[in-house]
Amino acid sequence: MRRSQPRRRTSPWGDARRRRSILHALPKTDLHVHLDGSIRPATLFELAKDQRVKLEVKNEADLGRFLARLTAGVSLPTYLKAFDLTLAILQEPEALERVAFELAEDAHLENVRYMEVRYCPALHLKKDLDLHGTVDAVLGGLSEAGRRYGIQTGTIICGIRHLSPKLSLELADLAVAYAGRGVVGFDLAGAEKDYPAKAHREAFDRVLRNNVNVTVHAGEAFAPGSIRQALHYCGAHRIGHGTRLGEDPKTLDYVNDHRIPLEMCLTSNVQTQATPSFEEHPFHDYLKRGVRVTLNTDNRLVSSTTMTDELDRAVATFDLDPIDVRQVLLNGFKSAFVPYAEKGNLLRHAVLEIDQELKRSEIATTESERDLL
Ligand SMILES: [Zn+2]
Repeated sequence: MRRSQPRRRTSPWGDARRRRSILHALPKTDLHVHLDGSIRPATLFELAKDQRVKLEVKNEADLGRFLARLTAGVSLPTYLKAFDLTLAILQEPEALERVAFELAEDAHLENVRYMEVRYCPALHLKKDLDLHGTVDAVLGGLSEAGRRYGIQTGTIICGIRHLSPKLSLELADLAVAYAGRGVVGFDLAGAEKDYPAKAHREAFDRVLRNNVNVTVHAGEAFAPGSIRQALHYCGAHRIGHGTRLGEDPKTLDYVNDHRIPLEMCLTSNVQTQATPSFEEHPFHDYLKRGVRVTLNTDNRLVSSTTMTDELDRAVATFDLDPIDVRQVLLNGFKSAFVPYAEKGNLLRHAVLEIDQELKRSEIATTESERDLL
């Protein structure tokens, strides 16, 4: 008797090229992207030339090698060294405005409909800029992209863990001053180990009392205690990365029960060894448990990635089906720091666009009850 061949499952996406083109066309968000890590290579060199700044790399090939060295399975502090290079040319308002505009333009070109750009204003004061000047410049660039392309953006002001809590408080005041005028949240970034978030508690108290949204980088380079601090000392409404959340099942339940979004960044996490490989990244496990996971770029230049790359990597690595992808994309829109009514609009448009795009690509989806929560 002939043994029947096991039935080979065909991918609903088709081949890799078709899959990528569908994912490119789908409406996306990017909620976790650092301005100073997301400069076009050509712009970096042009700005260095205009400003007569001598960079430690000479050309794009050099830059590629330099970044590859700093991102090849390294620690977070090594990865962060790449920012010395970019910050050298981000000390003038015109440069900040241009880089913000181009970041939003690049996002628009791959169908990102909503993006939150974050940076620490205190790292841009080496020439004549003051804190307010940095915010005005970035908001100028982003709103120009909004006018031209319709992409909706917000900015998040970052405190830095290893800088003084007093400075974080000043930055918190800055976020409060610009709340409702383009700034949508406050964050704490930088090296996690040895620099606990709770040292900056006063800054978080200040923003929370003024109804500003909070997200905190946590659970990226350090154990889940860091996530508990972000949640319970800093009042985080979202968690930046949260990669190591699974090490603490009770906190994972808390995050899930309270629908606290995780801003996950697969490529950056593998580069900084927050997880050993894409395959071992807990993203899919969290998604299956119902955690509100979102995909983000972190740093387009430093991590050499785009939103389409991140989504494509997730689909290829975890064999995500169209319903999973729909869920991840909607999680992004649901997690945006925008007022409720505005979020309703964003979501309605996203649902329509996703379903139209999948239908156009002849991919059938059925309503998933996971969409409800
Ligand atoms: Zn980050």
